[in-house]
Amino acid sequence: MIYETMNPEETRALGKKMAEEARGGEVIALDGDLGCGKTVFTQGFADGLGITEPVTSPTFTILQSYTGGRLPLYHFDVYRIEDIDEMDEIGYEDCFYGEGVSLVEWASQIGELMPEDTIYVTIRKDPVRGFGYRKITVLRKDEK
Ligand code: ADP
Ligand code: MG
Repeated sequence: MIYETMNPEETRALGKKMAEEARGGEVIALDGDLGCGKTVFTQGFADGLGITEPVTSPTFTILQSYTGGRLPLYHFDVYRIEDIDEMDEIGYEDCFYGEGVSLVEWASQIGELMPEDTIYVTIRKDPVRGFGYRKITVLRKDEK
């Protein structure tokens, strides 16, 4: 499925809608360049789960957990990961294979750890279409 957004609010709304449809157990890979909107999408997603805590980029911590919503949200940012063992150390398996939803910014960095039924969300800018334009591709297993 391909979506096009023209501003952060629309990307946030898309994340929120996906969260409202989430049943728990989903792993969502977020890829795209720095500043494309991965964290904005995650903020909308958190909102859709009813999480009121502010969601920021967990760049220096790899994992930030939010338990105040309808489902637990595990927000990963694996941009700075150097060794895949760091994922084991933070207990990623309990998140990926648990009851909550995992959102993984820069998931392609840890491609081999992503479950088979990962939902891939890829965000692309296109300067020709304007500063706020984003093309957001959502790929589920049955659509591959
Ligand atoms: P990332 O986490 O991918 O590095 P962020 O979500 O932190 O990116 O930042 C995205 C930036 O792009 C924000 O400053 C946001 O306001 C801006 N932006 C402009 N247009 C959009 C859009 N359509 N969707 C998402 N963010 C947008
Ligand atoms: Mg980010």
